Amino acid sequence: MNIFQEEHLLFNPATPESNSIPIIFAFPNEYTVGITSLGYQLVWATLAMRKDVNVSRLFTDINENLPQNPELLGFSFSWELDYVNIFNILESLKIPIRSKDRNHNHPLIFGGGPVLTANPEPFADFFDLILLGDGENLLPAFIDAYKEVRNADRETKLNHLATIEGIYIPSLYEVTYKSLDGEINSINPINNNIPATVKKQTYKSNILSASTVVTKNSAWENIFMVEVVRSCPEMCRFCLASYLTLPFRSASLEHSLIPAIEKGLQYTNRLGLLGASITQHPEFDQLLDYLNQEKYEDLRLSLASVRTNTVTEKLVNILTKRDCKSLTIAVESGSEKVRKIVNKKLTNEEIIEASINAKKGGLKGLKFYGMVGIPGENNEDIDLTIKMIEAVKKATPGLRLTFGCSTFVPKSHTPFQWFGVNKESQKRLQYLQKKLGAKKIEFRPESYNWSVIQALLSRGDRRLSQLLELTREYGDTLGSYKRAFKELKGKIPPLDFYVYETWKTDQVLPWQHLQTNLPVTTLIKHLEDSFNNLKN
Ligand code: SF4
Repeated sequence: MNIFQEEHLLFNPATPESNSIPIIFAFPNEYTVGITSLGYQLVWATLAMRKDVNVSRLFTDINENLPQNPELLGFSFSWELDYVNIFNILESLKIPIRSKDRNHNHPLIFGGGPVLTANPEPFADFFDLILLGDGENLLPAFIDAYKEVRNADRETKLNHLATIEGIYIPSLYEVTYKSLDGEINSINPINNNIPATVKKQTYKSNILSASTVVTKNSAWENIFMVEVVRSCPEMCRFCLASYLTLPFRSASLEHSLIPAIEKGLQYTNRLGLLGASITQHPEFDQLLDYLNQEKYEDLRLSLASVRTNTVTEKLVNILTKRDCKSLTIAVESGSEKVRKIVNKKLTNEEIIEASINAKKGGLKGLKFYGMVGIPGENNEDIDLTIKMIEAVKKATPGLRLTFGCSTFVPKSHTPFQWFGVNKESQKRLQYLQKKLGAKKIEFRPESYNWSVIQALLSRGDRRLSQLLELTREYGDTLGSYKRAFKELKGKIPPLDFYVYETWKTDQVLPWQHLQTNLPVTTLIKHLEDSFNNLKN
């Protein structure tokens, strides 16, 4: 059977009318990955429910019947390193990779999703237009505006679309540099009709999203996902999931979560609760009570990571009854000082108490998630992390403890966007590995080298487009980045500039012209608060 025939759709696709707009909507990875993305599912369903468009899906391994002459080709971009697959897809469709090389015979290439909303600049030369922010209202506004200029030439189309809030047309902005390999000097629209800044769109409603399709071929077999909250009110200073998507919104239990869950569980018994901070939902307890009903006895529940101080015995009891065997809690560090710097409102006592509750409630395993290289951290703080995990182990004998650890990567639109990666991070990961290994605590570090590449893309500007094309040519390995930097020496800034340097707060940022809900002055204030905490 065809993989698409194995899908249970939770919406009614429209029958496209005769003059409908042919669109390809792609996910730059395999079907299994793409169909597990709630964002991809939503945009696809929104398009498929319109009779004025005719949408076909495309993944790297499989696709529906594609139109001969698509007018629009969209990408849902949620993992930076998938850019290589975007290049591959464009080439396979015989579409030039760079926007400037396309003409009226080519579709408009649009993109959206977390990577592009955070910092589209390294990819700006490859997209004709970028949708910044939540798609709920933006996507219909885009299609409606496109229809108004559907028969116009490419330039007219782009100029018209640039007037829609949240639509960013990179080619209509000129970036100048102090020198070829120096800082950005200015970013300005190429004429007065183009807005000087583009504002990320925020969907404000208490009806949040839920899966539009359930399939056994998704990464989590047959999972039905509901979005419990959007954003996170905690505002840890490095956190993109919080800062980029503010304000914090929660789905109404009565009008959003329960109706969605009742519908989805007709097709599956596997439920995923999504959101950066689901236990912050004001009615989370009631949601648990609802899921604790006898009729959901067979339910298999998966949760995104939860806030440490919400891990109560009741929560864990219900989770274990619903086949959830392990929980992830983000602690960042065992050092109170470091947690204060990042604004993580948590104590070691609370971490130990949560772990005891996890064990008492019947969980078999607990995963902590931490980070090294946070600004202000030193070697003593790493020792404090080890000490904290040892204390947890002592308090919870028999509970399987895992410590997952990443390297601090600066993210755009957060107060820590100006900090570089700490070069000591790799050594600190190795040290943790050695010490925790000796105590038989499972340690799962994320690759330091790939964190460096993430930081590069996270703080990159348009000049990186040349580098990305070269890295692909050189084999898309870690070594190919090095080789490409060598090749472009003097033509673009060195790796150190993007990744390791601490930037000045008055420096022009690559995303300076793209705005979120918080002004840069607030981010600077939060950055200063962290510094003040460091002094205390
Ligand atoms: S609690 Fe987690 S999701 Fe919330 S701001 Fe902190 S790191 Fe981000």
